[in-house]
Amino acid sequence: MDLNLANKVYIVTGGAKGIGAAISKTIAAEGGIVIIAGRNKSDNQQIVDEIVKLGGKAGYVTGELGDPGVCRETIDFTVEKYGRIDGLINNAGKNDGVGLEKGTPEKFFGSLRNNLSHFYNLAHYALPYLKKTKGNIVNIGSKVAVTGQGNTSGYAASKGAINALTREWAVELLPYSIRVNTVLPAEVWTPLYENWIKTLPNPEEKLAQIVSKIPLGKRMTTSEEIADMAVFLLSDRSSHTTGQIIFVDGGYSHLDRSIE
Ligand code: NAP
Repeated sequence: MDLNLANKVYIVTGGAKGIGAAISKTIAAEGGIVIIAGRNKSDNQQIVDEIVKLGGKAGYVTGELGDPGVCRETIDFTVEKYGRIDGLINNAGKNDGVGLEKGTPEKFFGSLRNNLSHFYNLAHYALPYLKKTKGNIVNIGSKVAVTGQGNTSGYAASKGAINALTREWAVELLPYSIRVNTVLPAEVWTPLYENWIKTLPNPEEKLAQIVSKIPLGKRMTTSEEIADMAVFLLSDRSSHTTGQIIFVDGGYSHLDRSIE
């Protein structure tokens, strides 16, 4: 199946690691040009080098996306260098453990800034260019938006808002034929996940317990499985799909808890 991404330009936030890196590489493998926006310069450089080595095209902008100026710079850089934007993949986020009891109002607001504000800011700044290309937006959400987890109010609020914004933007952008969809992972082995599980008591035991409850295959989802869905949604091949929240989670969020 040709996804028709060749020479189109896609911004991937957090595109240097984990799920974002898999999305960046998948877009590049399909012939698309990738701009990675993330806060660690050497991570950004490394993934760009990898993509270029494989014959792909990529660039990057380094900065904390919670800063609206970095979002503006990401859009300006992309348009100045490549002249167009065909898609925005809002992926960057971190389960930062800002709870209700142990957090503070300042930390809660900081979590919203670093996990949510850039989804809006980038979409806002990219919109004039997405209108020209009839491009589209793919967000990466989290099961936390629908299941709760405990001790992570800022992250849960951000991911809940992303589900709401998926439908909200899908409606607002109908006149421009801009589609908006969200891919919702649950348990994906990435640097973020590894760091998170290490914060729990008995991480190995906890991991085995989680994996045993993933209905399809009793295994974690791979970053590539999330990337395949995200890139399909970006492509013309999903041209009549908008406002959708698609769970790529081996059935973890929805299938009957009594399944052995
Ligand atoms: P990851 O391995 O930590 O990769 C995320 C990348 O984004 C990192 O390079 C990170 O930089 C960067 N980043 C995060 N927030 C940023 C910000 N505010 N500004 C600039 N760069 C930022 O994470 P992942 O597991 O691939 O997660 C990707 C997305 O999937 C996130 O939105 C996450 O919530 C979602 N998700 C993941 C899982 C899972 O099981 N892994 C489950 C549900 C949802 P640093 O390395 O400096 O932090």
